[in-house]
Amino acid sequence: MAANHDPDPPDRGAEPAGTVVDALAAGIESGDRAAIGQAITLVESRRREDEPVAHDLLQRLLPLTGTAHRVGLSGVPGVGKSTFIEALGAHLTAAGHRVAVLAVDPSSPKSGGSILGDKTRMPRLAADPQAFIRPSPSGGALGGVARRTRESMLVCEAAGFDVILVETVGTGQSEVAVAGMVDTFVLLLLAGAGDELQGIKKGVLELADVFVVTKADGDNRERAARAAADLTGALRILRGTGATWQPPVLTVSARDGTGVAEVWQSLADHRHTITASGELTKKRRDQQLATLWGLVEERAIERLRADPRLQRLRANLELEVERGNLSPGAAAERLLEAATPLGPD
Ligand code: GDP
Repeated sequence: MAANHDPDPPDRGAEPAGTVVDALAAGIESGDRAAIGQAITLVESRRREDEPVAHDLLQRLLPLTGTAHRVGLSGVPGVGKSTFIEALGAHLTAAGHRVAVLAVDPSSPKSGGSILGDKTRMPRLAADPQAFIRPSPSGGALGGVARRTRESMLVCEAAGFDVILVETVGTGQSEVAVAGMVDTFVLLLLAGAGDELQGIKKGVLELADVFVVTKADGDNRERAARAAADLTGALRILRGTGATWQPPVLTVSARDGTGVAEVWQSLADHRHTITASGELTKKRRDQQLATLWGLVEERAIERLRADPRLQRLRANLELEVERGNLSPGAAAERLLEAATPLGPD
């Protein structure tokens, strides 16, 4: 069985941070699963004192990242995500790939989240030495959860995993977050009783690079094929035919294993096409910048809310806005001025 526990972050009590980073980086580079687990625990940690260490580590790992194929997969609960990821993962490791499965699930397990990336949902892959599965970081706003998954992805890449599968549920927002960190985004859909596809939302239709109609077996096979043909037609109208990549609609039975190889071929074709056209470079650059500004936003607001010097002003401004004596815009301006006293230009 592969390392199936989440190890504690290393005890840094007596050690200087540099030593910890050296040890973790060396472990990750050699593919040591305990080191990978510890590094992910570190980047997921929300303890202030872990932050600089995590940053040092990520900075160190940066040159080892960037070459993996990053794939996002989404679909409503029950569409067959974990069954499909098991089948795809097994196909990939058999072909010599090393596969990491990560997840972005902003709903906490307590509130009935599906605990995406849970190893018990993918028992075969969890036992495969060429695969690594990590459940979604739990708790916090979507932005923070997504940021932590993104950093875990970098750790996995540095450890030599060349295919990263990032799973999420069809909540709309989490799909946008995952599409913002991957090269290829896959939407899993299910044909309903009247052939209509379930889980379709227009915004998400525009995000996906590959569509997969699941459970195309038994009685459902014909239905899945008809639904796939309908969607192919609809996409032609929705997306036009001018782009370098036309998103295909494939059918798959993860239960029988049919169509899995074709889906992988399609994902690889997509990566190849956007690499050749230069879109991948641009996409990655845009994603980096969006991450930067997302972090600035998150941190700036955190600091404004936490700054004890602004406590009284914050309370007063909120009160004035609540009472309708001050416009939100003017209040925001005053708060920002107080937070960042500007010198002369
Ligand atoms: P998830 O919630 O999206 O991860 O969905 P699961 O992978 O847990 O699958 C939901 C249900 O659909 C389970 O009962 C699976 O056994 C079933 N299922 C998944 N894939 C297939 C398939 O290819 N064919 C059939 N017939 N059932 C499937």
